[in-house]
Amino acid sequence: MDVEADVVIVGYGAAGVCAAIEAASAGVSVVVLDRFAGGGATAMSGGVVYAGGGTRQQVAAGVTDSTDAMFRYLLTEVGSAVSKETLRRFCDDSAKMLAWLEDQGVPFEASLCPYKTSYPSNKYYLYHSGSEIVRSEVAPPAARGHRAKGTGTSGKVFFARLAESARRHGVRVLTQTDARELIMSDDRVAGVRCRVLRGWPRAVHRVLSRYAAKPGLYVPKIGRKLHAMAAALERRFGRPLEVRARRGVVISAGGFVNNREMMRLYAPGYRGGLPLGTPGDDGRGIELGASVGGRVARMDNVSAWRFITPPSALQKGILVGANGRGVCDARLYGAAIGDAIVRDHGGRAWLLVDDDIVREARAQIPVETLWFQRLTALNRLGRGRVRGATLDEVAARAGVDAAGLRDTAGSFGKPPYSLIDVSFRSRKAGPTPILTLGGLVVDEDTGQVVGVPGLYAAGRSAVGVCSESYVSGLSLADCVFSGRRAGQHVAKESGC
Ligand SMILES: Cc1cc2nc3c(=O)[nH]c(=O)nc-3n(C[C@H](O)[C@H](O)[C@H](O)COP(=O)(O)OP(=O)(O)OC[C@H]3O[C@@H](n4cnc5c(N)ncnc54)[C@H](O)[C@@H]3O)c2cc1C
Repeated sequence: MDVEADVVIVGYGAAGVCAAIEAASAGVSVVVLDRFAGGGATAMSGGVVYAGGGTRQQVAAGVTDSTDAMFRYLLTEVGSAVSKETLRRFCDDSAKMLAWLEDQGVPFEASLCPYKTSYPSNKYYLYHSGSEIVRSEVAPPAARGHRAKGTGTSGKVFFARLAESARRHGVRVLTQTDARELIMSDDRVAGVRCRVLRGWPRAVHRVLSRYAAKPGLYVPKIGRKLHAMAAALERRFGRPLEVRARRGVVISAGGFVNNREMMRLYAPGYRGGLPLGTPGDDGRGIELGASVGGRVARMDNVSAWRFITPPSALQKGILVGANGRGVCDARLYGAAIGDAIVRDHGGRAWLLVDDDIVREARAQIPVETLWFQRLTALNRLGRGRVRGATLDEVAARAGVDAAGLRDTAGSFGKPPYSLIDVSFRSRKAGPTPILTLGGLVVDEDTGQVVGVPGLYAAGRSAVGVCSESYVSGLSLADCVFSGRRAGQHVAKESGC
């Protein structure tokens, strides 16, 4: 073996770094492998962590919350993705989890956002990040979206602080190291076969893969080209490296949204969405686990984010499908809206608004939007909207069934009306980001891949709290929860 450690972690994003910190805190040696430079989708994310039950920030902001209210609301989102006992534990430990993140150096703030948004501006770091307000009959709503404090998309701060903590804990990170195969010994996972880059190909690969991830995320064609060049370097210059794990291996290599074949196989209805991830989200982590007997589940669950807000006035509109019938409450979280559009309306939907709403929404744009939201908002209120003096006229312009629209609209608003195209594949409405939610089935008490001794999984490589449906912050919260769980338990393995 070329490298040896007690615990080997494949993938250095939120789940991997949390697993690494916990395992190292338990006093065992930890090596993390990352095909690129680390950070993954986590470092590009909004850095929102879903947490409640009385976090320090909620208390300071005067937000009333309880673990029970959090549990009852999340049950409506999580369904049977994890057992009720696991969800209860997730909620009971939530405030402590956020405090643990703060202990690692991740900054949060008690600045409560006064309006409904998909992502607050740089003034606010605590907000209603799900559908809590719409589902208030289930539990009193509370703001639980804790955005790491940092301007723009604050996932970079979130990951950087955790990576600094891992470094302080003595975690060794091998970047530009691609995990290709698991090594088995006596029916248990005992290590990872990799390909590693050294010298100038390593340096070039680092640059190419950085830009393939971002701006590649927003310009997928360029992203794919840069990634193809990076992958060619891996094929040509990658050298074999065997990494032995005395106690076990944790797979935390993200999801599969960038694997076209897997997407075609498991979630064909979501083709045409904007893959929300890095080229590393190619399903390899999940395949590694499956190659040694791991089972997968919830692979057809994809979160499609069709946000209506900001500007917040738009949630006063009515969402309708091509038949003019209602899609769902426009105040719901963007992923719930996206799901309803794709699953129940063939991907086509419009938002019915009147001129008062349009005026109010326009006035909100400068205050409520960040740069990446501003363009979409302006587009929707401009080119992406058709207007008519009557419901029949606007329906005809949009290609929506007029009788259905009349029925649904009832006494809504006052003429003239507009229909804003918010269809899944609508160019005018902007792309619909998509994120895969399924993965390897793990023991919910330990994070071990069911039936595979020595192998653990966490984050988007595994089934977790957000595998049924996602609200903002629930993926990172699950990565922290499942990553820490895997790290704590793999460190206790007696090993081989
Ligand atoms: C723009 C954007 C905004 C988002 N905002 C939020 C948000 O605010 N809140 C939230 O909860 N979620 C958000 N998400 C989703 C969330 O970021 C991800 O679901 C989450 O970060 C996944 O974490 P992970 O640890 O599972 O994987 P990642 O963070 O993607 O890490 C996986 C790592 O594994 C590495 N890897 C992959 N294959 C291999 C291999 N074969 N060998 C070695 N290494 C490998 C990758 O290079 C990567 O570094 C957002 C996502 C995006 C893209």
